[in-house]
Amino acid sequence: MNITLVQGDITAQRVDAVVNAANSSLMGGGGVDGAIHRRGGPDILRACRELRAGRFGRGLPTGQAVATTAGLLPARWVIHTVGPVHSAAEDRSHLLASCYRESLRVADELEAATVAFPAISTGIYGWPMDDAARIALAAVRAAETSVTSVTEVRFVLFDSAAYEVFAARLG
Ligand code: ADP
Repeated sequence: MNITLVQGDITAQRVDAVVNAANSSLMGGGGVDGAIHRRGGPDILRACRELRAGRFGRGLPTGQAVATTAGLLPARWVIHTVGPVHSAAEDRSHLLASCYRESLRVADELEAATVAFPAISTGIYGWPMDDAARIALAAVRAAETSVTSVTEVRFVLFDSAAYEVFAARLG
C-alpha cells in the first residue's frame, strides 16, 4: 500500500473511493462534505437518505464509515465517515483513527484499489493539523496488514500548509 500526498480538491480526484468528512446526519454540511455533494450531484444525497431510512436511522456514529455512489464525481464510491470534534478535555484520537481504519475496511470490501482521504476533523471539527496527520498516518499504516485490495491511499490536502504538515510527518 502506497501512501501519497497531493495538494488540491478531493472532488477532482480520479480514484475508486473518495472519503467524505461527513457529519452523523449524512445530510450534507460545509467543507469537504459540501464540496462532495455540490460536485457529486443529488444521487449521493438520495443514497444517504436511504441509509437514514434504513441501517442508520439514528445517524452514522462517530468513527464509523459507510459507502454510497459517487454520483457525478470521477470516482466509483464515496465513503462517508464521521470524525470526532476535537476536545482539549478528552482524548478522542481513537475515534479519529477509527475513521481511517473503518473507511479502509469499507474500501477493501468494495475491492477499491485507490482511496482519497481529506484531513478528517481538521476543519469545522477543530483538530490541530499536526496531531491529525500523526493519527491519520499511523492508522493507515496499522491497517496495512488487514487491507488487501487497496494499493494507494492518497491524502488530499486543501492548502499548502496542510500539505507541508503531512509531508513532514510522512518523512
Ligand atoms: P471536519 O468537519 O471533519 O473538520 P471539514 O470538511 O470542515 O471537516 O474539513 C476537513 C479538512 O478538509 C480541512 O483541512 C479543510 O481545509 C479540508 N477541505 C475543505 N474542502 C476540501 C476539498 N474540497 N478538498 C480537500 N480538502 C478540503
